[in-house]
Amino acid sequence: MSKNVLVLAESKDGELRNVSFEVIAAGKKIAGEGSVKALLVGENVASFSEQLIQQGADEVLVAEHSDLKTYTTDAYKQVLLQVIESESPDALLIPHTSSGKDLAPRLAAKLSSGLVSDVVDIEEVGEEVIFTRPIYSGKAFEKKSVSSGLVFATVRPNNIAALEVDSSRSGETKEVSVDLKDLRTVIKDIVKKTSGKVDLAEAKVIVAGGRGVKSADGFKPLEELADILGGAVGASRGACDAEYCDYSLQIGQTGKVVTPELYIAVGISGAIQHLAGMSNSKVIVAINKDEEAPIFDVADYGLVGDLFDILPILTEEFKKVKA
Ligand code: FAD
Repeated sequence: MSKNVLVLAESKDGELRNVSFEVIAAGKKIAGEGSVKALLVGENVASFSEQLIQQGADEVLVAEHSDLKTYTTDAYKQVLLQVIESESPDALLIPHTSSGKDLAPRLAAKLSSGLVSDVVDIEEVGEEVIFTRPIYSGKAFEKKSVSSGLVFATVRPNNIAALEVDSSRSGETKEVSVDLKDLRTVIKDIVKKTSGKVDLAEAKVIVAGGRGVKSADGFKPLEELADILGGAVGASRGACDAEYCDYSLQIGQTGKVVTPELYIAVGISGAIQHLAGMSNSKVIVAINKDEEAPIFDVADYGLVGDLFDILPILTEEFKKVKA
């Protein structure tokens, strides 16, 4: 079986996002004897090409333009449609990030293709590509098979492992000329709401606070722990509603869906709407003073007690391990 797969690589703040390597690995699963081409879109992004090849891309296509510096629906859609037309891929994989979620359905509509979104696993059985995706807020998984037409999916970050870096790999990098017409959106400035060092969607470790944290200041010990672990701070809607933190940190049904390797839920009761955003995390640790809190039902490790006593102890212990 042989498929030519096109994957969209994403960069942010001058770095490739990890999910770019994960979509390459996902592409490899279905390419067989075919190739995986990674598409870089942006301004001054060609320098990422080598990294993508070392992580498994067979070829890198680079679409650079000053109007592509920041994602806009208009411009990126035009680039993708042009590249799809010239490359005629059998399969297209896009990161299931904020921009990927915006872009993919528009492309599918333009291409009159199907789209399997939020994929967490991929396997190839004969001519069929079988995608696994969570349903019912992560309580169950469904398998979708695609056996004809363009195989098109968005891939959830942190689920399909990136390939090992192989610095001996080589591959071609090709510039793609872009023709952008009638752009309706111009990004003049970006005002960041949070100063989070680690992107919540891609974080390997998340320390999330709930209403039990009690105030904006109460988030400080969570930030310290997240810093030591190289992770990001998240929150329940309870904490956001109480104005302890910004809504951009909200995890759950109406917030972000995350799948880190370690999720530490601090002072969060574990309402179903919160679980919808984090219950697929690999290891869940819950800290709560109420031993009956539902968060303990999904936790791998539970600490019953006052978060303000427990967090400083944990942080000190992790500091010792890191020293
Ligand atoms: P609480 O339920 O008030 O829990 C606070 C917890 O902190 C308690 O378990 C308490 O025992 C513990 N605690 C208190 N003090 C301490 C202490 N000193 N030490 C240790 N533990 C302590 N919620 C989300 O999170 N994300 C969503 O996306 C979301 N979407 C929603 C969508 C809809 C349509 C609806 C109706 C609700 C949604 N909610 C969402 C809200 C959800 O139902 C809960 O109200 C919310 O998750 C509760 O937040 P919490 O756990 O922080 O607060």
